[in-house]
Amino acid sequence: MTGRKKVLLKFILLGDSGVGKTSLMSQFVSQKFFIDYKATIGANFLTKEVQIDNYLVTMQIWDTAGQERFQSLSISYYRGADCCILVYDVTSTSSFAALNHWRDEFLIQAAPRDPDNFPFVVIGNKVDLNDRVVQTRQVQSWCSDILNVSYFETSAKRGNNIEKAFETAVHNALARS
Ligand code: GDP
Ligand code: MG
Repeated sequence: MTGRKKVLLKFILLGDSGVGKTSLMSQFVSQKFFIDYKATIGANFLTKEVQIDNYLVTMQIWDTAGQERFQSLSISYYRGADCCILVYDVTSTSSFAALNHWRDEFLIQAAPRDPDNFPFVVIGNKVDLNDRVVQTRQVQSWCSDILNVSYFETSAKRGNNIEKAFETAVHNALARS
């Protein structure tokens, strides 16, 4: 038996307040979903170990403490990220428009060594709701300006597509490291 290579990778969630970042992380890490809105307390990360290919990956997933409302995330939030997960809400046009801001902010603050090839995962969340306003092709068009991006539509409420989105984030981060 060959030993698996161990790696630690940092993932950060970015996007407007209320789009479902904390819910996505909580579904992915512990298969739990909370109806009540509660702002995350304390800028924090959770870890989850996953086995992918020949790697034992410790995923360090950072979530905000709600400071995104004031656009005041600290530099340590961005620093050293191996993949940036941009989240919007498919029922909110403004949350989709805000992806420009979050992507730019990430590239400025994290200043990755290979900005043009840096891996992004874009997530359109809340597809379980009926009042969708952002269409898939709009997002695909936005994504076509980014070299290394994967797009997923999820429901943190029902759990759809979340494993796939995070797994792809790991793949893309590994490919870079
Ligand atoms: P954050 O501010 O981006 O961390 O967003 P939260 O994870 O706190 O979610 C904001 C609100 O949206 C909460 O009331 C969640 O229960 C709700 N929510 C999150 N994801 C979904 C989803 O996929 N579907 C539905 N219907 N509601 C969601
Ligand atoms: Mg949150």
